[in-house]
Amino acid sequence: MPIYEYECETCGLLTSALILNPREEETLRCEHCQGKSLTRVLSRFALHKTESQRLKEFNPRAPRDDSFYKDSRNVGLWAKKRSKELGVDLGDQFEEVVEKARTSNHPEDFEP
Ligand SMILES: [Zn+2]
Repeated sequence: MPIYEYECETCGLLTSALILNPREEETLRCEHCQGKSLTRVLSRFALHKTESQRLKEFNPRAPRDDSFYKDSRNVGLWAKKRSKELGVDLGDQFEEVVEKARTSNHPEDFEP
C-alpha cells in the first residue's frame, strides 16, 4: 500500500496519506492545521524533526556516540573473559548482569 508521510511546513506535524493517484498529493491537506505546504518524508529514519520533537526525544543520559556505546559493551565481555582466565566462577547472576550491561542502551546504569 502506498502510504506516505508528509511533514507540514506550517505546523511541523506529520500527516500520513494513502496515495493511489499521484494527483491526490496536490490536494492533500495537513490533518492538523489544514495547511497546504506538505513535504513528503521518505522514511521515519530520514525524518526531519521539528525543534520541539527533538527536545522531547533528547535524552541527556544517552551515550554520546557509537564508540562510547561499543566500549561499554566491551567492558562486559572483557570482565567475562578475564574471570574465565582467573578461574573465577562468577555465577549465573554475573552473566545476567553482564548481559544486561552489554545490551543496555544506557550502559552507565550498570553498576557491578
Ligand atoms: Zn499543519
